[in-house]
Amino acid sequence: MERHQITGHTELIGLMAYPIRHSQSPATHNAAYEKLGLDIVNLAFEVDASELEDAIKGLRALKLRGSNISMPNKTIVHKYLDEISPAAKLCGAVNTVVNKDGYLIGHITDGIGYMQSLKDNHIDPIGKKVTIVGSGGAATAVQIQAALDGVAEISIFARDDKFKANALETVEKINSSTGCKASFYPLEDLDCLKAEMASSYLFTNATGMGMKPMEGMTYIPDTSFFRPDFIVTDVIYSPHMTKMLEMAKEAGCKIMNGQGMMLFQAIAAIELMLGQRVDSEYMKEKLGIRYEY
Ligand code: NAD
Repeated sequence: MERHQITGHTELIGLMAYPIRHSQSPATHNAAYEKLGLDIVNLAFEVDASELEDAIKGLRALKLRGSNISMPNKTIVHKYLDEISPAAKLCGAVNTVVNKDGYLIGHITDGIGYMQSLKDNHIDPIGKKVTIVGSGGAATAVQIQAALDGVAEISIFARDDKFKANALETVEKINSSTGCKASFYPLEDLDCLKAEMASSYLFTNATGMGMKPMEGMTYIPDTSFFRPDFIVTDVIYSPHMTKMLEMAKEAGCKIMNGQGMMLFQAIAAIELMLGQRVDSEYMKEKLGIRYEY
């Protein structure tokens, strides 16, 4: 591995999460810094909820330019920050902390990443109706950002589990804070899902269904749920092709996996922290990212 030449000028940016050793995030951020010619290194720090307050105090004391935040810290780090972006407030989660001369601002870039990956893939849902399944962190970020960006209508489906209340809250927040019309439907009602998909421009799976331990599985019963001119996306990036995307591809749909969301949320976080935007084409090639396989 080629090592960054570390000097007295080298800056540090970290990712605070636990567990985190498996994360691809530091590699992505370091590749971007290198391309931008920045003398910065990005490292993963095993920080859990009990250590987060001290870690944020450390960030302030060490005058780091910011930090990436992942679970379990995304939903609690706001307590230690000075300001939260409107999207982060609506999502109830922060994945990027920006240090502006000691004043810490929390942002969420997951939804931005998803919307930018659509744009990069020539998909434009603005002013249109979309159907999104999911009620967890990824789903909330995507649904809120889609509404903020100008999607006209979102049909949100979720199964009846501990996350369902989030989806109901998201519908309420979107309807009271944005110009988008959101509705909730139970995922158990597959006839309703089929009808909402039929009247949508785009469909997104924003649940863990399709990745381990549910790899090879989908709640979509058969390919009659898809039509050839439909756009079907998945936030899952590993595996690159979920069962649902395979079925949608077979039905002739345009498909997109979650690799782009992952890349563009990092690009957006770097831009917020450092004020520079790395070339996404370079990053896609460097990281071997494709929207479909
Ligand atoms: P989470 O634990 O917050 O939420 C889990 C969601 O999955 C809930 O909506 C839950 O209802 C749903 N779910 C679980 N089992 C289900 C089943 N059998 N049928 C239907 N729904 C089911 O998780 P999260 O952080 O929102 O992550 C969800 C997925 O999004 C994961 O696969 C994760 O890898 C992916 N993700 C991708 C990106 C990206 O950048 N591409 C970012 C974050 C998360």
